[in-house]
Amino acid sequence: MKLKNQDKKIYSLIQKEIKRQKETLSLIASENYVSEAVLEAQGSCLTNKYSEGYPKKRYYAGNEVIDNIESLAIKRAKELFGAEHANVQPHSGSQANEAVYLALLNPKDKVLGIDLFCGGHLTHGSSVNISGKFYKFYTYGVDKKTELLNYKEIEKIALKVKPKLIVCGTTAYPRAIDFKKFRVIADKVGAYLMADIAHIAGLVVAGEHENPFPHCDVVTSTTHKTLRGPRGGLILCKKTDRLDKKNPDLAKKIDTAVFPGIQGGPLDHVIAAKAVAFLEAKKPVFKKYAKQVVKNAKAMSEIFQKEGIRLVSGGTDNHIILLDVSEFSDSSKKIQNDLEEVGIITNRNTIPYDKRSPFDPSGIRLGTPAITTRGFKEKECVLLAKLISEVIKNPSKATKQKVKKEIKKLACKFKLNY
Ligand SMILES: *Cc1c(COP(=O)(O)O)cnc(C)c1O
Repeated sequence: MKLKNQDKKIYSLIQKEIKRQKETLSLIASENYVSEAVLEAQGSCLTNKYSEGYPKKRYYAGNEVIDNIESLAIKRAKELFGAEHANVQPHSGSQANEAVYLALLNPKDKVLGIDLFCGGHLTHGSSVNISGKFYKFYTYGVDKKTELLNYKEIEKIALKVKPKLIVCGTTAYPRAIDFKKFRVIADKVGAYLMADIAHIAGLVVAGEHENPFPHCDVVTSTTHKTLRGPRGGLILCKKTDRLDKKNPDLAKKIDTAVFPGIQGGPLDHVIAAKAVAFLEAKKPVFKKYAKQVVKNAKAMSEIFQKEGIRLVSGGTDNHIILLDVSEFSDSSKKIQNDLEEVGIITNRNTIPYDKRSPFDPSGIRLGTPAITTRGFKEKECVLLAKLISEVIKNPSKATKQKVKKEIKKLACKFKLNY
């Protein structure tokens, strides 16, 4: 029976969410709109299958088709990122990171990762996350003045800490990451290097950001942010463990850590959707898309600067813009709400060395992946940045009413085909 007839409540809630997505604009840097093809694969009967293990090494019968699907996803992932090995089973970006830690570390081993206030993710050693509870995380930040990664400083910290693993990659850093410099530091202290490219994966495959290979040992990612696939995780790695001569099969260590290490049966429907997204990401139109994502972020940044709103690090190299709104309001939470009221969906975010609490920090994070999927070019981004600035600087009822109308017009013009 169709959902519409069987469960009217969930059906109508999904209809409401479709309407919300159509009528508002997502500027959440970690969100995107997937293609209908990705949705179709993810909503398929593959969800019925149990397939613990890996292609040709399953515990249950009936996995011939699933083997072909997962093998194809792996092949496409490897080609897309230029990786020697890929594991497409992690249920999310967090699971991907957890699996890598399990594969490379023992409990209490030392890890060096970026500070959460400077753009790190919870899975980079937050005290409330399993990473922070099981491993000894040390942190590096960005330079207080420039708000950029300072590699000399990171090297100093690494030499002092002597970590077994260095994690680079962030969730709110608007600038490019120099993986080569991280490699030099990792080599100096004999550490593994892992890049978490959850945010920038789509830019990496399109050549809009430097590829973490060959510099990194392991690369983790989500598949649903700039990469525009289904909600899920991904691990890419070298075949050989440079630091463990006795047990040098790095690919096997990673696979074993994912299953049976931290997960049971894979989500085969999601893996099929990942494969579809990888195919899409290889096409020239995706390259064009990723280029536009960056152009759009730059166009918006210029307007914010003209409007006198401070940008963390003074600009952007990627899809992220981090606004320091402390000059305009005591509450970024209120700004987030004001923007939501007019149909602009964002998230409040800490800024480096934020003096306020993470619950109501000084920043608003914006990202261009989703609006670029809808077809926004620089012209619309300029208009949008002006409208956002108006709401931030003068959140009066009249302003909000006016901006709400304009946003609805934009949202209707740049349609979602769901
Ligand atoms: C989003 C993100 C993750 C986690 O992804 P989930 O799928 O939400 O678990 C991990 N690391 C970074 C840097 C991220 O931005």
